[in-house]
Amino acid sequence: MPSGVITVSYIAATILFILALGGLSNQETSRRGNLYGIIGMLIALLVTISGLVTANYGLLLGGVIIGGTVGLLLARKVEMTQMPELVAILHSLVGMAAVLVGFANFMDHSIAYTGVDKTIHDIETYLGILIGAVTFTGSVIAFGKLSAKISGKPLLLPARHWLNLGILIACIWLGVSFVEQSAAGSGLTPLLIMTVLALLFGIHMVMAIGGADMPVVISMLNSYSGWAAAATGFMLNNDLLIVVGALVGSSGAILSYIMCRAMNRRFVAVIAGGFGTSGGSAAAGTEEAGEVISIDAEGAANLLSAAKEVMIIPGYGMAVAQAQHIVNEITKHLREKGVNVRFGIHPVAGRMPGHMNVLLAEARVPYDIVFEMDEINEDFPDVDVSVVIGANDIVNPSAQEVPDSPIAGMPVLECWKGKITIVLKRSMATGYAGVDNPLFYKENTRMLFGDAKESLESVLKLLPD
Ligand code: NDP
Repeated sequence: MPSGVITVSYIAATILFILALGGLSNQETSRRGNLYGIIGMLIALLVTISGLVTANYGLLLGGVIIGGTVGLLLARKVEMTQMPELVAILHSLVGMAAVLVGFANFMDHSIAYTGVDKTIHDIETYLGILIGAVTFTGSVIAFGKLSAKISGKPLLLPARHWLNLGILIACIWLGVSFVEQSAAGSGLTPLLIMTVLALLFGIHMVMAIGGADMPVVISMLNSYSGWAAAATGFMLNNDLLIVVGALVGSSGAILSYIMCRAMNRRFVAVIAGGFGTSGGSAAAGTEEAGEVISIDAEGAANLLSAAKEVMIIPGYGMAVAQAQHIVNEITKHLREKGVNVRFGIHPVAGRMPGHMNVLLAEARVPYDIVFEMDEINEDFPDVDVSVVIGANDIVNPSAQEVPDSPIAGMPVLECWKGKITIVLKRSMATGYAGVDNPLFYKENTRMLFGDAKESLESVLKLLPD
């Protein structure tokens, strides 16, 4: 394939990827964005395979078939609630690929670089493997924590910051020695030692992060996987991989920054790893546990039918119960009766960025009544009934009231400032952060115990026609 065609196709794919990102930033255009991304990736794959690959087609085809089948089966099987785990494990594959390609490239002597070109190429190889190895093990640990295979509690080794600093200095020193040795035709030993250190660093970095802070870790690892791909692009002289890697790297970094702000964390502290390590006991943040006032479906239906302003706050439990469709039915019913129903979405509600928006879009809840936390948090004093559906940490007042709480400083939806709050959950169990929630004991809170979908089905039946 002529190199001009490859370049033009790569530019087209790049534009499609940028349009995809633009589309995905808004719910109404997200489907179109997704389509742009799929077409861009198809062009990228076809042009790379037919234009750049010159041998080993059988091996390539085998890989594509096996990888494609596994991907297809996983995507069909995975539940919406398992998405973050899937994303984490997919990031680990990007990291592993960067490491393997880096080593293969280092050992391949078919292209002989000399002088400054060689030094630059060696640095690219070194960085690609370094970032790839951190991403690989970090993502595997993130997967373990998200799927509860590993405890969400932060692992705090003594002098862990010094340990991290030591690894960083060692990696810089090994990098210098790798570039020097590589110029003389060797360099495998420092490269291998650095890889082992980077793998350990990835484990240590994510192990030290508390469960409640995992959302930022996921988007941070997303960013790392992008930079690893970009470094691989430099290593392979592939412009498209550089651009795509940079797009993923920078959008992941921007998302991490936005999430840090949403959780009142410092971005630099996240990048340095060992973030959100305040830990704390599971019950930290508990105020004098008062009495819990429960309510049944009929009571909830009465409150809703008498309300003029209703705020629905969905959380992880709505995803577990798959209650989004019945939530939409109730919303439609109330709106037909002239009730102003709005949704308040916390940036880290659920288990992945945008989790609630995806579910509400799937259930066809109108976009114009779905609001970000910042847009509606001041409106709660005017809200007659807030309905908290399987949410816990994101409506926990101890984030504001208990300075040593593990979630202290995290902005939360202040539903307790409204007239009455109905909380739908199955028990008094804590949420993801393991922190007890004083909201449940407030005078103006009513607990509607049970599976959110079943409870809401009963409420809908009891709402007057
Ligand atoms: P939480 O995990 O705090 O609470 C969810 C609640 O849902 C639980 O208390 C549970 O109570 C209830 N629940 C579970 N299943 C059902 C069901 N079938 N019916 C009714 N209720 C149910 O979720 P939030 O959305 O409030 O907060 C998200 C948390 O997850 C935050 O701590 C956030 O930091 C973290 N996180 C977020 C990520 C993201 O990117 N969004 C990624 C990783 C973590 P019970 O068992 O009593 O029913």
